[in-house]
Amino acid sequence: MSQPTTLLVDTELDRDDAAAAATELYLRLAADGTISPLPFAGATGVAGQPLPLRGTDTRFEILDRHLVEETGITAIGLHASGHYWRLDGQAAEMVEGGPENGIFCRYDGSFSIRCPQCLAPLSPGDDGSDALEEALAVWSDSPDSAFVACPNCSTWTPLTTWRSPGHDFAVGHFAISLHGAHLRAFTEPGNHAAMALRQRLGDLATDYTVVFSSV
Ligand SMILES: [Zn+2]
Repeated sequence: MSQPTTLLVDTELDRDDAAAAATELYLRLAADGTISPLPFAGATGVAGQPLPLRGTDTRFEILDRHLVEETGITAIGLHASGHYWRLDGQAAEMVEGGPENGIFCRYDGSFSIRCPQCLAPLSPGDDGSDALEEALAVWSDSPDSAFVACPNCSTWTPLTTWRSPGHDFAVGHFAISLHGAHLRAFTEPGNHAAMALRQRLGDLATDYTVVFSSV
């Protein structure tokens, strides 16, 4: 079972600040009644039953019925590299550990990104994509060393600056997953409702990278 999912990925935030960002947003959305403070199993388990609180699939149900009706989004996940959520009394807390690696892409792992210098496209498996695969391998442990050499123009640029025109890839240490729909409006310039929702989710400058996935 998979569900259309829209991701908002902060590609700028430092790894050391990601867990605090996720926690701050969780506390705000739980306090104002947008989400349940307790995680639930969502599409991958029995609705309403608590998840085993491991891994990266912890989701919080949206309690704001207007938001669900307007967007089709039924749950939110908050992700920080090298951290996961665990239960702490009647709330959740983010702790170190778990497999979250800050790499977000389509459910099947395929994607296409563009060199920020010459705009040549590059996908895993392409000729010259070894530098991309190496950058992905070092990204989780030492993100500052994750550079890609473009097979077309030979420029070395940080992996975080390679953009996906099809919105199928991003790396970043803090991300928000919105489960239930592909919010195409997030990529439409001047869509005020979409901008307002992004700002409500802490994307104040609406500069988080949008990825459409399915999980
Ligand atoms: Zn290039």
